[in-house]
Amino acid sequence: MPTRVLLVEDEPKVSAFIRRGLEEEGYAVSVAYDGAMGARLALEQEVDLLILDVILPGQSGLDVLRAVRAQNQTLPVLLLTALGTTQDKLLGFDGGADDYLVKPFDFAELLARVRALTRRRDRSVAKGSQLSLADLTLDTAAKTVVRAGQPIKLTAREFNLLELLLRHQGRVLSRGEIAEHTWEESFDAGSNVIDVYVNYLRNKVDKGFDQKLIHTVVGMGYVLRLSA
Ligand code: CA
Repeated sequence: MPTRVLLVEDEPKVSAFIRRGLEEEGYAVSVAYDGAMGARLALEQEVDLLILDVILPGQSGLDVLRAVRAQNQTLPVLLLTALGTTQDKLLGFDGGADDYLVKPFDFAELLARVRALTRRRDRSVAKGSQLSLADLTLDTAAKTVVRAGQPIKLTAREFNLLELLLRHQGRVLSRGEIAEHTWEESFDAGSNVIDVYVNYLRNKVDKGFDQKLIHTVVGMGYVLRLSA
């Protein structure tokens, strides 16, 4: 499966140039031309890397970064900007950016950074060790789950469900998608088995904590994120 890049860049020439270059390297690229659309796509689509221009019409890239980080702390983000001052870089890193590239740049340099950021992600997934959100951590190798320092015991099915939600944190998963990844036997779409298991999981992961992590999106499915 190709690595999926979401590019948020309002200048058509620049976005076309980056898109063409990345597609030639085998990346799947989608483009948003303003901040609001960028934030929406970053949270709704499955994306492996976000390339974010800072100066955008409406919401700035830093606003988009804040909105994305409120829901998803693991998506790698590369900021692009013409502003190369230390102050701007610090603002970007404070906002949760992973890397920073000052315009104008060579495509080779962009590509090297894109590779480094997505390789880091591949490694963490391949090593399969830790997935986390806020104070919740799941270790896929040790098969352990810890919240706020306390171990949580899950059944195999609950563990698989939580792993799926963590891997796709910030994105709403439909019951069908959850069934496809978590249930091996055939799944009766009319049954409420997914809701039952999500409730089991909630009782173990969220009960007793002020900050709920598993949320129901009415009519759509379930999502793991910091706020409803
Ligand atoms: Ca711009």
